[in-house]
This record gives sequence, structure tokens and C-alpha cells, in this order.
Amino acid sequence: MKVVTIPCLRDNYAYLIICEATRQAGIIDPSEFSPVWKVIQQQGITLVSILNTHHHWDHVGGNQQLLTKLPDLKVVGHHSDRGRIPGQTHYLEGDETINIGQLRGTWTHNPGHTSGAITYYFEEAAFTGDTLFAAGCGRLFEGTPGQMHHSINQVIGSFPDHTQIYFGHEYTQNNLEFAQSVEPGNRWIQTKLEEVRQLRRSGKGTTPSTLESEKLTNPFMRDHSPEIQNTVKQQDPSNNLSPASILRVIRRMKDNY
Ligand SMILES: [Zn+2]
Repeated sequence: MKVVTIPCLRDNYAYLIICEATRQAGIIDPSEFSPVWKVIQQQGITLVSILNTHHHWDHVGGNQQLLTKLPDLKVVGHHSDRGRIPGQTHYLEGDETINIGQLRGTWTHNPGHTSGAITYYFEEAAFTGDTLFAAGCGRLFEGTPGQMHHSINQVIGSFPDHTQIYFGHEYTQNNLEFAQSVEPGNRWIQTKLEEVRQLRRSGKGTTPSTLESEKLTNPFMRDHSPEIQNTVKQQDPSNNLSPASILRVIRRMKDNY
């Protein structure tokens, strides 16, 4: 398997997943047509599927034009996104496998950012869309703090620590600066922030992360941290410090950061 990262729009990422044995490929979240089409042609692959993590326009914006070029494409998304994902042909509902050439992918339902948000898994890579970012999580447009906590920590978080996290937006530096503000004593955040600033200064992206790195630096996966709990108590003295209540306060602070 080979993954090609394709920057789109201002800070979105599409990802081309290539089965090297068959040269078939799937595209995760083609935000816009032109940059994705350029990479497809450069790689000389046969695109067989569009895999959408959720219905937002900046994740499905290239679907229609890709379908105009390649009318037989499968367009995959959650069954509850029926009518919201342009050109959708496959409606994930159970334990379907997603085939790209000889690659066999799986998926999990991760409500929180949207009700139909999903993550795709191929080999050791997870494509998390706007659910889990490096050092952050998506805004709660259609879900509760409890749902987002479960999606990130119990569902995605149950995969092996070395799982690579391919996220939907380049928000990492800002996310780490926020993470540092709510957990200033965390040396993992400090170290990663320095690395990320260096990458960004040289014009590079920060994807992918790993689940291990997220467990150490992502404030939405660190409700066990006494420092995070203190931050929450300062903001909200009556907070009961349940994982969902902590996520609610940290997410609200990030909305206003
Ligand atoms: Zn979104």
C-alpha cells in the first residue's frame, strides 16, 4: 500500500490509497477536483473508489467532477449520509469490507463532528476526517461531547498505538499551541510543537500522526491528566470531571481560542 497526501483548498488533505500490486486506488475526501486529478494522472493508477469520511462540502467537493470523468466510481459513505454525499453509491451500515485492488479496508462509525462521520482503516493507517486531528478534534456540529469522546477514545483509540493517523485538516500547530495552554507541563506537547513549527516554517505538512503521539499530546484524549482536570475546574468549578464533561469544556475553550 502507498498513501499519497494531496493538499486541497486552504488546509484540507485528500489521500490517495494505492494498491501497488494492481495499481488500483481509492481517494479519501477529494475536497476539490484539480489537485486530485493531477496526482491520479501522475501516479498512473486506476481510481476505483471515492471514500468520504463525512458529508461536509470541503470533503466531498470533488466527487461530482471525478464522477463525470469516471462514471463507474464507487462512492462510499455512512448510510445516514444518504442524500448528503454527492454521487454516493455505497451506504455503510454494518461490518462491510472496502476493497481497493487487493487491499481490504474496514471502517468505524464516529459520530461527534457529524452524525455520519466515519474513519477508514487500511493496514496500519486510519483516515479520520474531521473526527481526530493531530492534537485536536472536530467541532461538535451534530453530536454530543460524550459521542465525540467515545469516537476518539474508545473507537479510534482502541486501535494499536502505532496506527498512523491521516487527518482531514492541517491544524496541527494551532492545536498544539492550544494543547499547551490547557496542559502547560506536558513536555511531549512542547517537543512536538517545536518539531511542527520547524516543519511548517519549511512549508511542510504534519500528516500523518500516530495514535501513540495523540495519546501523549491531544487534549481530547487526556481527560486522565491532573493538569487538564485542573484547567477544567478553573473554567467550570462544578464540573464533575467525567470524560464527557471534560471534553465539553475543553472543546468550548478551543472554539473560543
Ligand atoms: Zn467537517
